[in-house]
Amino acid sequence: MAIKQFKTESKRLLDMMANSIYTNTDIFLRELISNASDALDKRHIMSLTDSSIVSEDPKIYVSVDKKNRIITVSDNGVGMDRKELEDNLGTIARSGTFEFKKDLSEKDEADIIGQFGVGFYSAFMVSEKVEVVSRKVNEAKAYMWSSDMEGYEITPAERDEAGTTITMYIKKNTREKKYDKYLDPHEIASLIKKYSDFIRYPIMMELETYDYKEDGTSEKVTKLQTVNSMQPIWKKNKKEISQDDYDSYYMQEYYDFQKPLKTIHYKVEGNTSYTALLYIPGEKPFNYYTGDYKLGLKLYSRGVFIKDEASEIVSDYFRFIRGVVDSDDLSLNISREILQQDSQMKALKKSVDKKIKSVLENMLEKEPENYEKFFENFGPQLKYGCYDNFGQNKDFLIDLLIFRSSRDDNYTTLKDYVSRMKKDQNDIYYVSGESLEKIKLLPQLESIRDKGYEVLYFTDSIDEFMASVLREYDGKQFKSILKGDLDLNTKKEKEELEKKTEENKDLLNEIREMLKDKVVDVKLSSRLKSSAVCLVSDDNLSIDMEKVLSHLDQGNVKANKILEINPEHRIFDTLKNMKDKDRLSEFVDLLYDQASLIAGLQIDDPVSYSEKIVSLMIDSDR
Ligand code: ADP
Ligand code: MG
Repeated sequence: MAIKQFKTESKRLLDMMANSIYTNTDIFLRELISNASDALDKRHIMSLTDSSIVSEDPKIYVSVDKKNRIITVSDNGVGMDRKELEDNLGTIARSGTFEFKKDLSEKDEADIIGQFGVGFYSAFMVSEKVEVVSRKVNEAKAYMWSSDMEGYEITPAERDEAGTTITMYIKKNTREKKYDKYLDPHEIASLIKKYSDFIRYPIMMELETYDYKEDGTSEKVTKLQTVNSMQPIWKKNKKEISQDDYDSYYMQEYYDFQKPLKTIHYKVEGNTSYTALLYIPGEKPFNYYTGDYKLGLKLYSRGVFIKDEASEIVSDYFRFIRGVVDSDDLSLNISREILQQDSQMKALKKSVDKKIKSVLENMLEKEPENYEKFFENFGPQLKYGCYDNFGQNKDFLIDLLIFRSSRDDNYTTLKDYVSRMKKDQNDIYYVSGESLEKIKLLPQLESIRDKGYEVLYFTDSIDEFMASVLREYDGKQFKSILKGDLDLNTKKEKEELEKKTEENKDLLNEIREMLKDKVVDVKLSSRLKSSAVCLVSDDNLSIDMEKVLSHLDQGNVKANKILEINPEHRIFDTLKNMKDKDRLSEFVDLLYDQASLIAGLQIDDPVSYSEKIVSLMIDSDR
């Protein structure tokens, strides 16, 4: 029998498989076991229409022979005849659609293999030689396909019943790779648990265990055992699962002491069919907003584990979601073309995203308290989602956002805010600050509150950045009450302010000169009621954004600050009547420092600030 050559593509893949140092070699077992499971499925399906094909006691059997360095995987599934051995294992281009992507880098290749494997050929990652003995159902003859990777041959063989046995002759350890671990039955059993736990058929192995006798002694024995647990919780009928079951699965799986806030168990049928069991954590993981956080979503394909941290199937803005997505039709194998997988993944992601959004919307409407709890943990993530990618996803996410507001400190959606806007109100007002308590003390809030306008409280550092990307909601602009010209006043009020500004032109110019290194302008304020001064910024960067950026080590970007003085305040008369220019300058410095403190900024020279205050106190006591 002549030794046949593999097709070029197959050969290239085989070489890659054998030599790639990035590749996760563990997956060979998963691939062979899922093939065995497929073969058992096929036999079962055939038996439904052909009564001569009984599907008796379907199972997968795995053995390890350490001495001879052999692992076998057998099944009593459909089996293959001679032609099928040739067609299925001789060439990878079975479907004819596979064209190996020439522009893939070595790293990409390794990634693909690492995630999906390349089916049967992955046996060569760990074997120097592979034999496949197979007998097709309802056929008397069996054949053996064998290969040492150079070529392959098919010869007549013996097999008692229909099915397939794959025999792998395990490679010797090299400096880079250790293969000996695969000759430890317990290692193999743990790989089966990890990757193939939810295969529907029992996977049997001879494993050492202790036999406990009646007299209390025990004895080490080797016993045939089922290694896999077969049915995962997400494949069970919802009616059979209690919330306790869901909770304890979650808590075990994610080492969380808190129960999940929300459990989402659903099934989708159609173009992209899958089952998902998703959780919203009750508390954000301690490292959630750091680079150390690992996505808690697992991808399975028909019960076979594909990967952890499956960022391909959920958008970044929902990265708090944990759980499992088990796809019915994601192929495990790159022989079905990479691109197709890509589009399958994209469809999956879209569907998962949509589901999460609808669950959140529902929570927002029907369980506001739970939603607020959720939002306090993961709200900044959603806001970041609106901001990220120049606002690409803002329309999808915007109505999931809630903010506290001046109405009654409670949360409101933007939609509700807009519905309450006064007739003469054109913009959505917000005020940013470190905390609710600090924001509420800001002097700039006074006059706007007097007008009866509601103001959103922005306390997350992402808020203002997000608003600058969002720009508007429902046609209404976001407007900071700490920035630029608010345009709150009536025509008459405006005229009055202009008149006062004109009257005090010289004084304002003097003050501008005194503060020229610190502020871009000095103005009479229309937004202050009882306070003397405040700092605002022009329409560009706000003072709060400057603070955030300086924390992020981008301290060279500064807000253009404007000092506003309340012309109705008694201090303004004091300034107007001051003859001594040095004293005026001292007062102006003091006012500027006060405005800085109110804005939550550090003052340049706290010592001299304090000295000036103290000397004023002494003066006033004279
Ligand atoms: P895939 O499983 O994606 O089809 P594989 O490379 O894993 O690709 O397997 C190639 C083909 O070989 C399978 O489609 C199947 O027809 C055949 N095959 C592999 N293992 C078995 C088995 N244990 N029993 C029967 N057929 C098998
Ligand atoms: Mg396969």
